[in-house]
Amino acid sequence: MTEMPTLSPGAGCRNVPILKQRGQREVFCGLTGIIWLHRKMQDAFFLVVGSRTCAHLLQSAAGVMIFAEPRFGTAILEETDLAGLADAQAELDRVVAELLARRGDIRQLFLVGSCPSEVIKLDLAKAAERLSAQYAPSIRVLNFSGSGIETTFTEGEDACLATMVPMLPETDARELLLVGALPDVVEQQVLSLLADMGIGPVRVLPAPRLDTDLAVGTNTVFALTQPFLGATHAALERRGARHIAAPFPFGEEGTTAYLRAVATEFGVDSDIFTRVTDAPRARARKAIAQASDVLREKSVFFFPDSQLEIPLARFLTRECGMTVIEVGVPFIHKGLVGPDLDLLPEGPTLSEGQDVELQIDRCRAVRPDLTVCGLGLANPLEAEGMATKWAIELVFTPVHFYEQAGDLAGLFSRPLRRRDLLRLKVAEWG
Ligand code: SF4
Repeated sequence: MTEMPTLSPGAGCRNVPILKQRGQREVFCGLTGIIWLHRKMQDAFFLVVGSRTCAHLLQSAAGVMIFAEPRFGTAILEETDLAGLADAQAELDRVVAELLARRGDIRQLFLVGSCPSEVIKLDLAKAAERLSAQYAPSIRVLNFSGSGIETTFTEGEDACLATMVPMLPETDARELLLVGALPDVVEQQVLSLLADMGIGPVRVLPAPRLDTDLAVGTNTVFALTQPFLGATHAALERRGARHIAAPFPFGEEGTTAYLRAVATEFGVDSDIFTRVTDAPRARARKAIAQASDVLREKSVFFFPDSQLEIPLARFLTRECGMTVIEVGVPFIHKGLVGPDLDLLPEGPTLSEGQDVELQIDRCRAVRPDLTVCGLGLANPLEAEGMATKWAIELVFTPVHFYEQAGDLAGLFSRPLRRRDLLRLKVAEWG
């Protein structure tokens, strides 16, 4: 199979100047990550210590699942807690005791901080330590923050995984650790590809249950499946594990480069690599070509939101023929997205952080064919005649690896097709 062209050294965006902005931001908070994490971790419960706003966010994001017995909930901080009139730690102990008495299936309890718990400086680390001692060994209690004060929505997953790393048992085994919550069907696909190449043992973080063989040590090598796992990356390196840097597995090219980096680390023969990847690569290319015809020569503008922006800009540019005008990213961690930056052709403005009014002005000035942004910006921009894609859909939809590459291109082409259809209808009616 023909290889994708690589850029000559220095021709990518790794060293281009970054526009850094600090102003008003338009993103969801890290609590959002609970929606996909609770599906992956089948013996976990996420107890948000927050306000009614936090509860509403979770319930509306989780949609229909609130009718089942969900693995998340909110311990509401009442006005007496916020005013310091009640002992919030004692209240929390009471809520946890009631929860654990009712739900015997819980093995891992996450106390999740929010804006209100941060504002009143409720020490959830202390609470987790105290409750862990009380309920060990049958239940482990950990804490992380999903507060919107400092986190963007995908950082909730990062904070959750990072808090688990110091708890993992030590191992001397040479193992591959895949890090990041993927939909089960996608996880099975990549595990199957790796098994066909003879790579193993492979562990996955987060594991579905606490009692798996998940462990970490100096012989562990890890590959991230999501570009927003900076704190988890740092926590794993502190445990002596080594990161396999690679482009992220979006699109055919990104997936092949990702798998090749892992295969090289494990000394997989190039013939075996080709034999295992040729057919899915061909399927991915065909699916992308079908889904992306409407994207060719169109322009795209990314507002900072999911932290997937750089790998997706690389995918849209190199595999779908789009021109990227601006790639806005909440935080740029070159240790993670450096290989994607190397492949992203020079040209777009690379911006980190946000001053939303200034960024909207830049977007209006260029009027891109497609704008990728959060829900709060999408409707106003649509009202101004711009086609938009909600960034959050890119996290909720299976988009990684070969078999999803066509769907990924389809997520971007759908708004353009819809706009074209609407214009056609309006012309017919006019
Ligand atoms: S954590 Fe903060 S931003 Fe998130 S829902 Fe609660 S109050 Fe709102």
